[in-house]
Amino acid sequence: MVTKSKFQAIRGTRDLLPPETALWNHVEQTAHTVFGTFGFGEIRPPVFEATELFARAVGGETDIVSKEMYSFEDFESNELAALRTLLVAEQSSISDPNFFFAYELKVTEFRERLGNGIERRAVPRTQENERALADLGSLLDSIAFDRQEYETTRDAAIFERFNLYVGTVRNYLLAVHLGDILSLRPEATASVCRAYIEHNMQQLPQPVKLYYLGPMFRRERPQKGRHRQFYQIGAEVLGGTDAPAIDAEVIEMVMMFFDRVGLTGVALDINSIGHNAPDCRPAYVEKLRAALEKVKDQLGADSQRRIETNPLRVLDSKLEHEQPIIATLPHIADHLCADCAAHYAAVKRQLGLRGVFFKENWRLVRGLDYYMRTTFEITAKGLGSQNAVCGGGRYDGLMELLGGPPAKGIGFAIGEDRLILSLQESGEGAVAQGRDVYIAWMGEHAYAAAVRAAKDLRNEGFSVELPATELKFGKALERADKLGSRYALILGDNEVSEGSWTLKALADGTQQKFTEPDLLEYLRKQRALSS
Ligand code: ATP
Ligand code: MG
Repeated sequence: MVTKSKFQAIRGTRDLLPPETALWNHVEQTAHTVFGTFGFGEIRPPVFEATELFARAVGGETDIVSKEMYSFEDFESNELAALRTLLVAEQSSISDPNFFFAYELKVTEFRERLGNGIERRAVPRTQENERALADLGSLLDSIAFDRQEYETTRDAAIFERFNLYVGTVRNYLLAVHLGDILSLRPEATASVCRAYIEHNMQQLPQPVKLYYLGPMFRRERPQKGRHRQFYQIGAEVLGGTDAPAIDAEVIEMVMMFFDRVGLTGVALDINSIGHNAPDCRPAYVEKLRAALEKVKDQLGADSQRRIETNPLRVLDSKLEHEQPIIATLPHIADHLCADCAAHYAAVKRQLGLRGVFFKENWRLVRGLDYYMRTTFEITAKGLGSQNAVCGGGRYDGLMELLGGPPAKGIGFAIGEDRLILSLQESGEGAVAQGRDVYIAWMGEHAYAAAVRAAKDLRNEGFSVELPATELKFGKALERADKLGSRYALILGDNEVSEGSWTLKALADGTQQKFTEPDLLEYLRKQRALSS
């Protein structure tokens, strides 16, 4: 019977394994190279940050922030946390007064430790914590007063109150923030902007061009192309001007990257969503809302709700029966202010100048106020309904929202998992594996020569498999074949003493003899021919 392995990767996460990781490395290396040629430098922000940062940057009402983040309280004070857990778990039906008095002592201890913790900065000095400290103080005064009364009168009505106190204490305790509330990053733009502000990057020559790659975390329903730990490759251009050439160059860069990795069926959609001023997007949103009101009855529940909360998001709807209705709605491009309209026209011209093909998609929108003007999305083949491999756009208001200097911003994020999947589906995913040379050795002298040969070959950049234990030649050649080796170098004590080494090409079985230096020379030449 096969017993089930006890530990498995957490739902929505997975191991990336060889040989597939070679493809990941290839893709990432291409990103480093291509982005480097556009003058971008790599930033590696931490994978967790204050939850508040993401709440502000991504938006508190978005699915990401409202239900998909992995958040935790990061406390320094473990004792305080343990004490709180103990007190919170306390039953509110207390039957023994002595038990209650012991409980009161523990609450007193908690309050003292909390006060000390705040003083020592081991616990954040927040309004909630200051209030909890004060509330617990006055509650403990009342408790002490009641206790003294009870000790003399044994009044049952007072005893009743003890139970109520336990409930109140619990509420106060739950309001305490023992540590900072942190989250695993669901995306990286917020972190990059935080870093720009924190390191005063507005003092550098503008714009600052940064790119990143790494894991992101969202508790979404796992499916094809959707994971809970997934990887993004992204870039941001921060500060300086919002000239349309910047937007166009950023898009040109992504497209060049996709081209370089061999992604097929790539389609670029662009749109402009104007900006947040009365004569621009808000005016359009009102028109959209009015138009939606007229067809409200024909829409599904989600869209009906969004007419109030965020009409732009109705345009995102994938519901079949809503499509013909949405097709009749007003287009934002027809309602942009003069500046935004000019910017959009210039971005399109600039894309043409760069030979970047695009399709205008008036339904491509973003629901957050600080997103403005250019938005774009790139889709690829072989991905089913999760076919977006890149989303991007301009977000000129974000930096200020995060407490930074006014600074323009535009960026994109590529879903690396989907990119890889698409490459694999289209047959572009095969990465050469195997070894260049498998050394089949037998005998002690041969082994010394084999070790030397392995070192020399590896120094030349050849991949070499040197078996750790002696194998019969037949067995060794079998292994060499299984590992997908191009050559087997056959080293027996005879070969070594004669100084004539046998190299067998595994594809056709042909053998040639070489001296040690000639062998290296031969392999170098073969490599030059095949590359
Ligand atoms: P989608 O509409 O596909 O959910 P999104 O709008 O949530 O995408 P962004 O936040 O713009 O996506 O992230 C950029 C890219 O990251 C997406 O285009 C996609 O390729 C990728 N991505 C987003 N969420 C996931 C996920 N859970 N698993 C894998 N890739 C993802
Ligand atoms: Mg999503």
